[in-house]
Amino acid sequence: MKFRKIGVLTSGGDAPGMNASVRAVVRTALENGIEVVGIYGGYHGLIHDNVKYLTARDVSNCISRGGTFLLTDRCDEFKTPEGMAKAIETCKKHEIDAIVAIGGDGTFRGATDLTNHGIPTIGVTGTIDNDISATDYTVGFDTAMNTVLDMVDRLRDTGESHARCLVTEVMGRHCGEIALLTGMASGAVAIAIPEIEFDEDACIKKMAELRAKGKRNFQIIVSEGVGGIGSGFGENLAKRIEEKTGIEARYNCLGHVVRGGDPTLRDRVAATRMGAKAVDLLLEGKSNLVVCEIDSEIVPVDINYSFVLDKMYKNKLKDGDLDAYSAEQIAEMEAFCERKRAYVRELYDLANALAK
Ligand code: ADP
Repeated sequence: MKFRKIGVLTSGGDAPGMNASVRAVVRTALENGIEVVGIYGGYHGLIHDNVKYLTARDVSNCISRGGTFLLTDRCDEFKTPEGMAKAIETCKKHEIDAIVAIGGDGTFRGATDLTNHGIPTIGVTGTIDNDISATDYTVGFDTAMNTVLDMVDRLRDTGESHARCLVTEVMGRHCGEIALLTGMASGAVAIAIPEIEFDEDACIKKMAELRAKGKRNFQIIVSEGVGGIGSGFGENLAKRIEEKTGIEARYNCLGHVVRGGDPTLRDRVAATRMGAKAVDLLLEGKSNLVVCEIDSEIVPVDINYSFVLDKMYKNKLKDGDLDAYSAEQIAEMEAFCERKRAYVRELYDLANALAK
């Protein structure tokens, strides 16, 4: 056994299921004779020594709860050499040999920095956006989508009563998967995501035709990343639809409500498997990995590989990014990106085809 004591933290945007991951980390570690230090408030808590030993009882009753009892924060200080030095000091003070960091992309960048500074760290996904390309699934995604679905079903009721169009903006940052899947599942007439150019003229033409045939309510789901976060795309789209079709249109932004709520079964199971796997990996002496779900298997992926794959998928590769990888690995990454793009396109086309 390599470790006697590990730390666990949640960082960045919260996601339903983070508590379930912490529970799995704590109980798997304790079962293996490893003590667990809970770090409160993400990397800020690590820098400012906000820690507490966790027992198996401390994680009772949290598997079913949303949010994160370990609290979370965004901490720019952690990106500075001084902040990192303080974080390492906290680890030394409490003899923390390794860390499990639960969060998203930013959290994993911090995890890599910690590993490079001598504290082996493993990342576990906790982000509603499903925006980490290396994994099929991120913890929180299912709960967030079910919350969106509940809200959009309600909007459909009022849309049908008033014969209105409801344009609903949902979170997702630069990834449109929440909008894509909830758009399909709510029977939206149109979906706007950053991955695929939105054909507004076609949407407006289709709506006018459907209205002429008697369709009363129109749901449109817009991902916040379309046109750039904060661009006002969804709100402006609602105005243009009303102007051009005469269909009364209302805009709703679901915002942070989608981050809360008790995790679904899907999220609790993924969180539990991923949290336990993180500890198993540390016990095997491994680090700088992100625990992923690929084809229903819980598997580790090198964090740096996951960053590069993400950049490739988002067409953001820079010179030198691929230098560390063999031709075979690059071909594998390209094939992966193609499959992912085809999957998004397939769902998008199917949802559109059925929107009548
Ligand atoms: P998420 O993990 O949900 O993507 P953030 O992007 O806000 O959320 O990142 C969470 C925290 O991780 C940040 O507040 C910061 O402390 C740390 N972090 C983010 N990016 C980096 C980076 N490039 N290098 C080191 N640490 C980072």
